[in-house]
Amino acid sequence: MGTELPKTYDPATVEGRLYDAWEAAGLFEPHGDGQPYCIMLPPPNVTGSLHIGHALDHSIQDAIIRRKRMQGYRVLWLPGTDHAGIATQNVVERELAAESVSRQDLGREKFLERVWAWKEKSGSRITHQMRRLGDSCAWSYERFTMDEGLSRAVREIFVRWYERGLIYRGNRITNWCPRCHTALSDIEVEHRDVDGELVQLRYPLTDGSGHLTIATTRVETMLGDTAVAVHPSDERYTGLVGKTVTLPIGGREIPIIADDAIDPEFGTGALKVTPAHDPIDFEIAQRHGLEAINVLSDDGSINENGGEYAGQDRFEARKNVLEALRALGVVGEEQRPFTHAVGHCYRCGTEVEPWLSEQWFVKIEPLAKPAIAAVKEGRTHYVPERYARNYMDWMQNLRDWCISRQLWWGHRIPVWYCDDGHQFASRTDPDACAECGSTAIRQDEDVLDTWFSSALWPFSTLGWPDQTDDLRAFYPNDVLVTGYDIITFWVSRMMMDGIDMMGEVPFRDVHIHGMVRDFRGKKMSKSFGNVIDPLELIDRYGADATRMTLFRSAVLGGDVPISEQWVEGDRNFANKLWNLTRFVLMYAGEPQERPLPPADAQTVADRWILSRLERVASEADAAMEAYDFATAAVALRTFAWNDFADWYVEWSKGRLQSGTDEEKTAVLAILTHVLSATLRLLHPLMPFVTEELHASLAGTGTILRGPWPQAGAADSAAESRFEFLQQIVAALRRFRADHKVAPSIRPAATVVVADSQRRPLLESELERVRVLASWGEIVVAAEAPDAVGEARIVLGGAVVHVPLAGVLDIDDEIARLRREIDELGREASRIESKLANQDFVSKAPEEVVETQRERLAGARAAIEGLSEALAELTA
Ligand SMILES: [Zn+2]
Ligand SMILES: [Zn+2]
Repeated sequence: MGTELPKTYDPATVEGRLYDAWEAAGLFEPHGDGQPYCIMLPPPNVTGSLHIGHALDHSIQDAIIRRKRMQGYRVLWLPGTDHAGIATQNVVERELAAESVSRQDLGREKFLERVWAWKEKSGSRITHQMRRLGDSCAWSYERFTMDEGLSRAVREIFVRWYERGLIYRGNRITNWCPRCHTALSDIEVEHRDVDGELVQLRYPLTDGSGHLTIATTRVETMLGDTAVAVHPSDERYTGLVGKTVTLPIGGREIPIIADDAIDPEFGTGALKVTPAHDPIDFEIAQRHGLEAINVLSDDGSINENGGEYAGQDRFEARKNVLEALRALGVVGEEQRPFTHAVGHCYRCGTEVEPWLSEQWFVKIEPLAKPAIAAVKEGRTHYVPERYARNYMDWMQNLRDWCISRQLWWGHRIPVWYCDDGHQFASRTDPDACAECGSTAIRQDEDVLDTWFSSALWPFSTLGWPDQTDDLRAFYPNDVLVTGYDIITFWVSRMMMDGIDMMGEVPFRDVHIHGMVRDFRGKKMSKSFGNVIDPLELIDRYGADATRMTLFRSAVLGGDVPISEQWVEGDRNFANKLWNLTRFVLMYAGEPQERPLPPADAQTVADRWILSRLERVASEADAAMEAYDFATAAVALRTFAWNDFADWYVEWSKGRLQSGTDEEKTAVLAILTHVLSATLRLLHPLMPFVTEELHASLAGTGTILRGPWPQAGAADSAAESRFEFLQQIVAALRRFRADHKVAPSIRPAATVVVADSQRRPLLESELERVRVLASWGEIVVAAEAPDAVGEARIVLGGAVVHVPLAGVLDIDDEIARLRREIDELGREASRIESKLANQDFVSKAPEEVVETQRERLAGARAAIEGLSEALAELTA
């Protein structure tokens, strides 16, 4: 590669080219004989496209992987996608609907062919978008949760658990979506507040001695009532337990029972028990041996158990049953609106029905115990640690896992039934019954919950159940990176499956990051209109800038606010690196080895920047090791921009432009050394621009394979000496700005330094101080000069005296400063009284109030600065 860099950085012409070259050269594949290091990418849905949450999640993983790769580890970042059962099936069903065809019209086999065709055509969108972000995944390892190997792993674990009795079939209340015709797991149900009506019903005692009043919002389910329950200690009902009531519709006689699960404070303290349509009622029924009468069909209509209401939709039946009850005179007066949380299908929004159906389950308790112990014993660490609590809470309250779904797209349950009533699970598709040899067999119609296969992701992707080299090298994985929203259902299941099948935890660390929000901290949503598309940011500002903004905001344990403006700021940072490198190359010419000058040939600025580099390298390295990318990003950006570009480069220009050959060589050696290390340290965060600049600077090789800079000892004495000089330059610059000194004027100054060691230091660097502060003559003295008409600036270790004659008219200046202070004071009190007005504060939009607060703070800061300037003149 040559050393010619275009004038400005254009990410669009660089990023795609570099990514293709990296991928083609196999740089993302595991390499070398270093210690293995592995991250499994949480597989995005094959239907998905890259959103801002992925952008954060992937940037963090990529940064971890890139750093480890540079450190010489044999890294594997394994990519892939999830078949996303219900989501994908819905996409294809929608396509079919546009052609007026249903999946039933096509039949199972043809429908699945259609889904595979869709997957081949559209399913790789997200993996292409990941490349735009710079994800350095080992693409030769890419997996799909329904590919051959993973399907084999699914069968294997299913059969093993089936044979151990951990998988069973049972009647359970599930969350049923009548639209999708499938059971949903708890996490696939969204709870939303719905306005309903709490209706009181009087059930007459069969012996005619009175009635019981119960309350319900789902009147139609009374068709399936099999008891009325009260709390055992509820004195209102002591004499009634054991008696029966007669249902006003249908006339069935049902018992009054006592159960601890009843809350005596709710309604009348007497509850109807409908075991087939409520999970708590189902448990009560189990305890009391009650029958469960299912009154709903799978499409949400009343079934034959509902007598005359059979065939009516559940909402229609709700109205009709209520009307009939009212006609019977058993509806209480106290009928009132009642807002309650009702489950909705996360896919289609239909109200979910608790429904009794036959499903497959995994027994959780024997799997959960070792998974809880593993986190307690510290074999898996949560970062931040507090998320271990969420995990524990969830694990301790887990119910058995319903793993069957009434879908077509997914891993079909590997259980067969024969006509003689046998049932068996099989690793391969059988021709005959395993028990009687009959060939009249059929496979279970249902498929497995998508999470059943993604729970195997940490090892199924490495060839399991075969004992492959990859499995030995990369299991346990090193870290799982994910958002806090899926700790419960995904992380916990990977823990259970991994420990049970592999005998060891699936990952050492779980790093939980926050959610990306808008710059005010608001959740991003289409309805707020504040959604940011990462691909648009990449188009406008480049992937590096997009990533850098995410990193700077990703404070450990917090949510991640971003704004387009900040990304623009990081595009400017990429440009700064670009210009910095162009500047160095202008003097360096062809790449060559440049050993650092020996310590006694280094100036105070040289020693300072080298020490600052050691310090920032050690800080960034420790922060990255702790997954604290915000600290690393801010430290590196500040170092590169302020310390290196603004101070060191400016300070060294004199030696570079008009120094001796030795001086030039020394400065160039330090510039290239610091720049090269800075690019390396920034590479995990900003992979593209750093590689491009490294190529120009080094002339050869790639930055991807390291080395990663090793931090040495910092030199605090050198830092403090240079900081003394920085302080003086900053004070002189501030004086010019505060007093609006015309650019053409070069004031003079006497700097009084009491410390006899600091005096020669300042004297030796006086020329740089003068140039950088745009100052005239500067004299260094041990004692204060006799002078009148001067401003005095008191600093730590020095006092700067500025004669004002010819610089500014003192009286005019004093008057001007007083005027400005007065004006600002009036403005400040105007804002103060506004903010003291409760009416304004509570009614004005939050942004308006915030702007006023910012203006007030700005005015106060300005008053303080001007008052100091005034004090200098009147001292
Ligand atoms: Zn649905
Ligand atoms: Zn059989």
